[in-house]
Amino acid sequence: MQKNNLLIVLIVSSLCFFACDQAEEKPNVIIFYSDDIGYGDIGVYGADLIKTPNIDKLASEGIRFTDGHCAASTCSPSRYALLTGEMGFRKKVGVQPVNAPLSIQPTQFTIGKLFQQAGYQTGIIGKWHLGLGNGDINWNKEIKPGPNEVGFDYSFIIPSSNDRSPFVYVENHKVYNYDPNDPITVSRVPIPDSIAGTSYPDAIKNPESITVYQGDAGHQCSVINGVGRIGYMKGGKKALWKDTNIGDDLVKKAKTFITKNEDDPFFLLLTSNDIHAPRLPHPRFKGATTLGYRGDNIVQLDWCVGEIMKVLKQKGIEKNTILIFSSDNGPVYIDGGYQDGSGKGNHKAAGIYRGGKYDIYEGGTRVPFIIRWPSKIKPKVSPALVSQVDLLASFAAYFNEEIPIEAALDSRNYWDTFMGKDDLGAEYILEQANTDNAIAIRKGSMKYINIQDERYEMYDLKVDPQERNNVIEERPKLTKELHKDLMMLRKIHLNALYD
Ligand code: CA
Repeated sequence: MQKNNLLIVLIVSSLCFFACDQAEEKPNVIIFYSDDIGYGDIGVYGADLIKTPNIDKLASEGIRFTDGHCAASTCSPSRYALLTGEMGFRKKVGVQPVNAPLSIQPTQFTIGKLFQQAGYQTGIIGKWHLGLGNGDINWNKEIKPGPNEVGFDYSFIIPSSNDRSPFVYVENHKVYNYDPNDPITVSRVPIPDSIAGTSYPDAIKNPESITVYQGDAGHQCSVINGVGRIGYMKGGKKALWKDTNIGDDLVKKAKTFITKNEDDPFFLLLTSNDIHAPRLPHPRFKGATTLGYRGDNIVQLDWCVGEIMKVLKQKGIEKNTILIFSSDNGPVYIDGGYQDGSGKGNHKAAGIYRGGKYDIYEGGTRVPFIIRWPSKIKPKVSPALVSQVDLLASFAAYFNEEIPIEAALDSRNYWDTFMGKDDLGAEYILEQANTDNAIAIRKGSMKYINIQDERYEMYDLKVDPQERNNVIEERPKLTKELHKDLMMLRKIHLNALYD
């Protein structure tokens, strides 16, 4: 080989080495975040009446955590913690009402901003439910601040939850499929006839419009697609989503995002609304289980996960994409009072654990938690205690990116545990119910709970995983220690933020 050719070969191979190395250091990251999926809802976690072959496969190719937690047992505070690395109770973030303002400050650091800082294209597709705007949203104009202001280059969102007004998607500040001739009004109280825009039936005045199933008193406002909802809406008829198509719509948008960014590192937060009520699976999944709409919607969810796995494989980026699957809170059978047949059959949505959505017990926050990264992670089952709130600091440590002072105060680096290199897990994690009405600390197998102001309970999950035997009286020394820890963790951060 001539000298010059040898030089070219050397340069090209070192460039390739550098490029390949770069790619390995910046894997794509997708967090597939399901809604109200319990510990026992997935096949590999023990559901034998629901088949979830795709999620089971994902688990068999990655790490399956058996003590993995979301930060809260309700949607908004869990999402807030995942995004900001801060427990929701610190800012009193509870379930967000209709027309709630954005609960994350545009100046606040988020996991989206972290990925942007690390050179990623970022996107959120799916349920948001963290408020939008400054408290006076005009749904006919630019809707902001929102996800695009707190770390996402692209957003396609269900603004609230699928049972809550408005019933349209918002794509980068604008209502998707917006029709200027049919202006949109969103309200917590009935909207007068004098306001322009298509009218929808009122569940109380037009009970005949409820054609699918009944909801409780809180879900008796506007009737959309035959189901009563929370809050009222007028206008935007062309923009209305079709509930049975939401799974397909989100998968389609996710595939577009992945395709657009397949050559660059990307971070996608894919927040499915499966299986939040009202549960209305696509007709092709109806009857897929013997457990009613709830079970059928889990089969739909599994299909969606499978579609994402498939597109990664087709694009040849499967090996270097970290795909995380988890849930925002534990399970609930009849939510919103919807009589959709959920709860039938011998299915244990929270597995062996006590409670579910809204509860401070393990069923509220212990959820399926799977991480797959074929090029780096060896498949295993990990018993380590981990929380979603720690993902932000763990990714920051991996990228060697700094977190601003006083940001993400509850997030700690457990990268090695998330990568399966150790099973040590978190020294402690905090759990909360909705706002700060119930809060708990997990330390090893011990769990210490404070409900409202004066009620305390302590359980040893090693011998009592179902939290039946309160051991406060029996173990005064440990009670004192954990009480001190919990109160201190609560207070330290409060002082840091509010003093
Ligand atoms: Ca939820």
